Amino acid sequence: MTFDQPALTRWLAGPKVAGLPAPLLGGAAPALSFEFFPPRTEALETQLWACIRRLAPLRPRFVSVTYGASGSTQARTHDTVTRILAETALTPAAHLTCVGASRAEVDAVARRYWDAGVRHIVALRGDAPPGAAYAPHPEGYAFAADLVAGLRAIAPFEISVAAYPETHPAAASPDADLDNLKRKLDAGASRAITQYFFDTEVYLRFLDRAHAAGITAPIVPGIMPVSNFVQAAKFSAACGTSVPSWLARLFEGTEEDPEIRRMVAAVVAAEQVRLLQANGVDEFHFYTLNRPDLTYAIAHILGVRPAAA
Ligand code: FAD
Repeated sequence: MTFDQPALTRWLAGPKVAGLPAPLLGGAAPALSFEFFPPRTEALETQLWACIRRLAPLRPRFVSVTYGASGSTQARTHDTVTRILAETALTPAAHLTCVGASRAEVDAVARRYWDAGVRHIVALRGDAPPGAAYAPHPEGYAFAADLVAGLRAIAPFEISVAAYPETHPAAASPDADLDNLKRKLDAGASRAITQYFFDTEVYLRFLDRAHAAGITAPIVPGIMPVSNFVQAAKFSAACGTSVPSWLARLFEGTEEDPEIRRMVAAVVAAEQVRLLQANGVDEFHFYTLNRPDLTYAIAHILGVRPAAA
């Protein structure tokens, strides 16, 4: 992803209908990463591992495992990450939040990861329980930028952080939120992964603003393949992602028809990633929700093939 020309200018001058993906024309395949959540039950564990094994041959740059609200999945995240490290050739990244924990507690988790051989952390603030306003732990890292600095002091981790093309819901302003992203990168993170979005132009405008603010680190788009529109719309409202009316219209009438819904979902996500790719984006982070098929199909459309093929 280059910043040689404003992304929005490229978009305005560039193709609005994507042609064949570059890799199918002899160009380089995009770099992918996949996000999983740690399983709560044995059945979900089986589902997660089927998902990991299905997606592993696509050779993602890394796979990340989320940390439950208020650190609620600490042990499960750790177990999943270390099992990925032990049983696959994948590079795992552990999400780590600082909400509700002291610095000493968070540092201990980070040290355990380092000692286990985990070298990549996705450093996040996390959220207060539903209905409560966020307040830092009295002895904790107050914000993600502080956590990044803390991790840097522990070991030379690779650190990714979150970015918000539509601005974090609690930010004082879009500019303040961008300053915060810059602080996280200046503190030692080397990549940002975005909150998911549906409107390509929103992301490209954000890239331009980031560039103008002097940010040169990759800002990797987070792609959420939507298979349950009603649920996704609810979740989007909570995390500040706008749902365009065309998206609602595309899913209209599919509520009772999961097969058709999945087909629509594949088309929507494929079109989104191909438009991004046609506009110079060469790295994508997929929120898989531990279901491999949509992500696999979209990767295929992007020109990414299993290692053996
Ligand atoms: P921060 O970067 O600290 O920012 C939080 C808010 O505080 C922003 O509004 C920012 O502008 C503001 N702010 C920052 N510094 C200051 C300051 N000094 N003074 C005043 N305001 C300030 N949540 C989980 O619980 N587990 C996960 O695994 C997880 N994974 C995620 C992965 C990605 C890619 C993304 C995009 C989000 C993820 N989240 C996860 C959600 C995340 O925890 C929430 O969005 C949270 O509200 C903000 O986290 P942050 O790291 O962006 O916070």
